[in-house]
Amino acid sequence: MSDFDINADDWGLETLAVRAGQTRSHEGEHSEAIYPTSSFVFGSAAEAAARFSGAVPGNVYSRFTNPTVRMFEQRIAALEGGEQAVATASGMAAILSTCMALMAAGDHIVASRNIFGSTTNLFEKYLKKFGVSISYVDLKDYEAWSSAATENTKLYFLETPSNPICELGDIQKIADIAHSKGAKLVVDNCFCTPALQRPLMMGADIVIHSATKYLDGQGRCVGGVVVGNHQDMEQVVGFVRTCGPSLSPFNAWVFLKGLETLNLRMKAHSENALALAEWLAQQPQVEKVNYSGLASHPDHELAKTQQKAFGAVLSIEVRGGKESAWTVIDSTQMISITANLGDVKSTITHPATTTHARITQDERDAAGIRDGLIRIAVGLETLEDLKADLARGLAKI
Ligand SMILES: *Cc1c(COP(=O)(O)O)cnc(C)c1O
Repeated sequence: MSDFDINADDWGLETLAVRAGQTRSHEGEHSEAIYPTSSFVFGSAAEAAARFSGAVPGNVYSRFTNPTVRMFEQRIAALEGGEQAVATASGMAAILSTCMALMAAGDHIVASRNIFGSTTNLFEKYLKKFGVSISYVDLKDYEAWSSAATENTKLYFLETPSNPICELGDIQKIADIAHSKGAKLVVDNCFCTPALQRPLMMGADIVIHSATKYLDGQGRCVGGVVVGNHQDMEQVVGFVRTCGPSLSPFNAWVFLKGLETLNLRMKAHSENALALAEWLAQQPQVEKVNYSGLASHPDHELAKTQQKAFGAVLSIEVRGGKESAWTVIDSTQMISITANLGDVKSTITHPATTTHARITQDERDAAGIRDGLIRIAVGLETLEDLKADLARGLAKI
């Protein structure tokens, strides 16, 4: 079977999202094919030996490589501007694989404090067991990013914008600090996607995604991906192929279809979120709106240079604490009450009693997660319908 390569080097981001990485089989299918096969057949014993040794490139077994998964890897690598990507079974598997590949006992990580809860658990419960230590710093405290490093620091890790407060960290600045300490910078680019922010172009070494979120964009599949240069990726690819958190071909195909509309969706998400944030800022029951698209946001200027648009996720603080927040959430009839995000359907959640319920009150206070805080991941519904769904609850407080 011969594939024909249909890629160009100088395509724009919109073209890459639709076409990068695609190969066609001899059947000439227009849409990417799904290859649901665990293994591949060889023409002879000699060919099998050559494939196993790597002397001849080609598929052997789908834990190592699979044509559908490879198309997804090449498309996301092209979008992020990276040399190589490896797809994983989930976003957490992407983070785990990166840590297992790049860290050893005695090594140290500097991470921003407000990262995804399971990432903190991975660091605290599992990496620590293997002798890796972690220091946490405030995303915008560049002094702390610098002073937290030890001679064993191998990795800097951050998410920007932060969840659910929507603070931004300066990727270029933190990359420079990481490199001055001889460490690599890993960015979890889940909230922005390459449609809005390309960390590798700003000095980051590795980008991680939960493909479950905006890369799929329609809440269908769980998956992840790690992107970087060949040298950094060698160990990560080796870990995934050997230890097995590989992505299924079906999920890779769903993500390929998701990427085709990524630029359009992120633009539309951002427009809806900005308009909703502006409306929320005018409501008397809303004491604060956290969204970097608002001129009043402390990171508005950085957001304008670092991101193409401001993204889909915002949070608001309502007057009256938890009771009011729950009233607003429970009065919605359309917006989904779920802690998930990255979907065309808007979602709403109360961080203090869901995503951030397990941490102490002091830790919540330090993170700015007050009892009246509500996080909304703005989807693609009609703006007036979103306003009406929220206005119902706001009118009761
Ligand atoms: C969801 C999420 C993850 C984990 O991804 P899964 O696909 O659920 O494993 C990691 N980072 C961020 C920012 C996320 O939102």
